[in-house]
Amino acid sequence: MEHKDIEQTVAPEEVVSVNFIEAEINKDNEEGVYGGRVHTRFPPEPNGYLHIGHAKSICLNFGLGEEYKGLTNLRFDDTNPEKEDVEYVNSIKEDVEWLGFHWDGDVRYASDYFGKMYDYAKKLITLGKAYVDDQTAEEIRQTRGDFSTPGTNSPYRDRSVEENLKLFEEMKDGKYKDGEKVLRAKIDMADPNIVMRDPVLYRIVNAAHHRTGSEWSIYPMYDFAHPIEDAIERITHSVCTLEFEVHRPLYNWVLEDWEDTEKPRQIEFARLNVTKMVMSKRKLRALVEAGLVSGWDDPRMPTISGLRRRGYTPEAIRDFCDRIGVAKADSTVDIALLEFCIREDLKLKAPRPMVVIDPVKVIIDNYPEGQTEPCVVENNPENEELGSREVIFGREIYIERADFMEEPVKKFFRLAPGKEVRLKGAYFITCQSVVKDENGTITEIHCTYDPETKSGSGCTRKVKGTLHWVEASTAVDIETRLYDYLLKEESDGKDFLGDFNHESLQVMHSKGEASIANTVAGDRFQFLRQGYFVIDKDSTADHIVVNRIVGLRDTWAKQQKK
Ligand code: ATP
Ligand code: MG
Repeated sequence: MEHKDIEQTVAPEEVVSVNFIEAEINKDNEEGVYGGRVHTRFPPEPNGYLHIGHAKSICLNFGLGEEYKGLTNLRFDDTNPEKEDVEYVNSIKEDVEWLGFHWDGDVRYASDYFGKMYDYAKKLITLGKAYVDDQTAEEIRQTRGDFSTPGTNSPYRDRSVEENLKLFEEMKDGKYKDGEKVLRAKIDMADPNIVMRDPVLYRIVNAAHHRTGSEWSIYPMYDFAHPIEDAIERITHSVCTLEFEVHRPLYNWVLEDWEDTEKPRQIEFARLNVTKMVMSKRKLRALVEAGLVSGWDDPRMPTISGLRRRGYTPEAIRDFCDRIGVAKADSTVDIALLEFCIREDLKLKAPRPMVVIDPVKVIIDNYPEGQTEPCVVENNPENEELGSREVIFGREIYIERADFMEEPVKKFFRLAPGKEVRLKGAYFITCQSVVKDENGTITEIHCTYDPETKSGSGCTRKVKGTLHWVEASTAVDIETRLYDYLLKEESDGKDFLGDFNHESLQVMHSKGEASIANTVAGDRFQFLRQGYFVIDKDSTADHIVVNRIVGLRDTWAKQQKK
């Protein structure tokens, strides 16, 4: 009797693990801090397209909202008029929705609260907690001190409340040039935390804002604006990345005089970094502006729009974010895990047509000229539910150039002179001769077929290799875009422009079976023996364009076994 591996039947113990943010929320809920409310927000600055790092923050914030039956806001932190644009606002909304999340109510904008922020700043001035400083940015930097030296007070630190209120109003009314004055918090120039040494709360920027136009000549700094935005929206848990940990005392300081007794709290988690990826909007913009990629949604980009065009599914990205979890220490995740997630998602879902990426013609000399016949091939051998289809077989077909070797190396079980292989779903063929052009490149491979070997005919002869193929007269032309990583193998990401991998896009002229003609942009496949592919948005009825999402070889699962 044949021995079969016995499947493990013992159910693994149900482990309910809680990440440290959930633990904090559970504690707040037990103590009734927010009356059991959980209200989170995702607060992007509309200064570029979102990347996979933002996806982690989106999954975390919206995930907490869903998990605790709470709410999550989408809020644009638009306090930097010179760098922001509605194009980015629209792309961000699209990306969040595409990932499958729903924000509470309308989209929010920090700029909607500029009036309230201004009033609150005046309140701080009145309380003697803020002052107008005439020092330049450079002077402010130089008098801030460092880890071992305390800073020194500004000569303008002791202005009267009346003078401060008057100057601040004049700043708002556009009386001063950029950089001429700032509003600073009056905290302590000797605080061990440099962030607390009279941080700037408002700066003068005489630039048009994409929403408020020229209404404001002053704009709040992130550290002042963010806690107020959270407080106005009655956010409970303000989740942000680790670099803001040292800013937390300032976050709390800003809200000390806020009238609401229920104040949001900031919780920090580690930023996502992924190997072979550039993870900053600023750097990604530089790649776009340098023309090294075709745009923010270039399929090589780690942007959500790039990943979408590359063929990634929202399910795969969410699965990835689940698997990496939430930690307090920075780390870098292997890109192989992301690739593993898309393979997992598409493995059973995606049909597997035959496409020859780099074709060479095979002529079957003993097959009747002008004749064709249907062959039945399953759509996904791992998922019977996807059924089967007919593909046309004939005298002339294409196979992959790499599936033939004139002088085969050891263990090469594919086509070679005198060798027999199986054509998937069709016949066995044996190579008889080759035709070459003047450069020695093979232009035709001549074969014979054995009519008794058609798939399903019950032929029991064994051959080692099975090749995919496409019948020539019915083949569809395909432009195949094969992508490699954005940065060169050895890059540490620092000189990301210099390390750009100029070989990261390879365009092939491929041949696909007829069914490929009836597809639309976004359709995903596994091309048999090749990898996962998606129809690109550049595709038209006359010119089909596909992107390789990822190859078949799974380096992630392999590493885990080691
Ligand atoms: P970038 O440097 O790429 O512009 P950012 O932090 O300035 O990133 P924001 O638009 O301010 O971008 O970010 C919106 C939210 O996404 C913030 O809460 C931020 O902490 C979070 N976020 C940004 N990058 C990452 C990342 N790599 N991993 C996890 N969260 C991130
Ligand atoms: Mg930023």
